[in-house]
Amino acid sequence: MIKVEKALNYILSSTSPLGIEKINILNALGRVLSEDVCACRDIPPKDNSAMDGYGINSKDTMGASQKNPLLFDIIEDIPAGYMPAKIVGFAEAAKIMTGAPIPQGVDAVIPVENTEPDGDRVKILKEAKTGENVRYAGEDVREGEPVLPAGKIIRPAEIGMLASLGRSFVQVYQKPLVAILATGDELIDIDGVISPEKIISSNSYSTAAQVIECGGIPLQIGIAKDTTEDLTAKFKYAMRADIIVSSAGVSVGDYDFVKDVMKDMGIKIEFWQVAERPGKPLTFGTMEGKLIFGLPGNPVSSMITFEQYVRPSILKMTGHKNLFRKAIRATIKENIRKKEGLRYFIRAVVSYEDGQYTAVTTGEQGSGILKSMVRANGIIVLPEEITAVKTGEKVTVQLIDGSFEMTSQPGYL
Ligand code: AMP
Ligand code: MG
Repeated sequence: MIKVEKALNYILSSTSPLGIEKINILNALGRVLSEDVCACRDIPPKDNSAMDGYGINSKDTMGASQKNPLLFDIIEDIPAGYMPAKIVGFAEAAKIMTGAPIPQGVDAVIPVENTEPDGDRVKILKEAKTGENVRYAGEDVREGEPVLPAGKIIRPAEIGMLASLGRSFVQVYQKPLVAILATGDELIDIDGVISPEKIISSNSYSTAAQVIECGGIPLQIGIAKDTTEDLTAKFKYAMRADIIVSSAGVSVGDYDFVKDVMKDMGIKIEFWQVAERPGKPLTFGTMEGKLIFGLPGNPVSSMITFEQYVRPSILKMTGHKNLFRKAIRATIKENIRKKEGLRYFIRAVVSYEDGQYTAVTTGEQGSGILKSMVRANGIIVLPEEITAVKTGEKVTVQLIDGSFEMTSQPGYL
C-alpha cells in the first residue's frame, strides 16, 4: 500500500502531453494551444473612425461651439468598407462611418451629435482634439506581436482573436482516447434485462461522463465477465486507446482477476493499493506509453479515484498546466471520525456564508452510496495522521463542480 502523493506521482511522471493536431478554430473551444500565435498583421489594418461623424483637421475646429458653429464643405462620403478617394483640406470634412478608413488630411472625427447639417456643408459645434475618435492601425494588435502563447486554454475570446488574425486552423494538444471497461458477472448494460442478482453498470456511464468533462474521448468497451479469458480479450481490445480505465475486480475477492490479467498481458503494475478511503484497491500500470487504471468497482470509489488520479493525467495529456481542482479551507459543521493511516475523501456540501466557507457531509458515506456523489459539490480531504475532526474546525475541501462560479443574481455589485 502506498500513500496518495506517491500514487499521484507515479501516475503523473508516467504521463506526458499526447501529441498535437491542427483543427478548425470552432472545434478548439476548451482545448489547449500548442503553438505560439503571433500577429501576422496590424489589427486594425488602417487608422479608422470610432464614430459616425465627420473627419476633419482638428486645427480647423478651433473656436467651434454651439454659439459659434463653423461651416465645413463635405467633400466625400466614406462608408465602412470603402477607401477614401480624396484628401481633406482646410475647412473641409469627409462624412465618415464607424470603422471606415481615415482619409489623408484628417486627424479627428467629430461625432454626428456635435454637428448640424447645412445643405452640402456641415456645421461643426465643438472643437476637436487631434486623435479624437480615431482608432489607430495596430492599436489592438501589432504585426509580429506575440498574441496567444502555447499552453493557453482557448475560450471564445481566443477564437475571436484567431479569427481576426485570419487563422481558421490552429494547433492544439490532442485529446486522449480513453477506453472504459466494466468488469463483473453481476453487471448488465443500461437497457439489459434486469433481475435481482444483476445491477446496471453505472460506472460505464459515470466514468464516460468524467472523461468527457475533462476533455478525453470515451471509448466504451462494455462489460467483461469475471474470467481471465473475457478480461484478456477485452483488455487487448482496449489497448487501442491511450488510457484504459477499468472498474472492479481489483480487490482480494475470489473473482478479482484484473491485476493478474494485466500482468499476463505484459502491463507493468506500478502500484496496487493506496492508503485512502474510498479507493484503496486502486491499481495502476503502464505499457507502451499507455496508462492503465484499474479503478475499484464501487460507484463512489470509481468516481473518486477517477477524480483524484485519472482526471489530472488526462489534463496533463491534453497540455494543461493546472491539473487540479481548486481547494479551499472550510469550517466543518459536524464531528467526523476516521481511521488513522488512510486519507479520507468525504463527499460534502460546501456553502459560502458571511465571508467564509462551511461544509457538511452528504450523509451516509458508503462507497456504494452514489447519492453521496449526487449531493456533493465538494470533497473534504482529511489527512492520514488524524483520527477525528470536530465541529468548528477547518478542513480542506476540493470544489468538484461549478457551484461557486454561477449565482442566481447578475454580478453588478
Ligand atoms: P468488485 O471490486 O468487483 O468486488 O466490485 C465492488 C462493488 O462494485 C460490487 O458491489 C460491484 O457490484 C460494484 N460494481 C462493480 N462494477 C460496477 C459497475 N460497473 N457499475 C456499478 N457498480 C459496480
Ligand atoms: Mg467484481
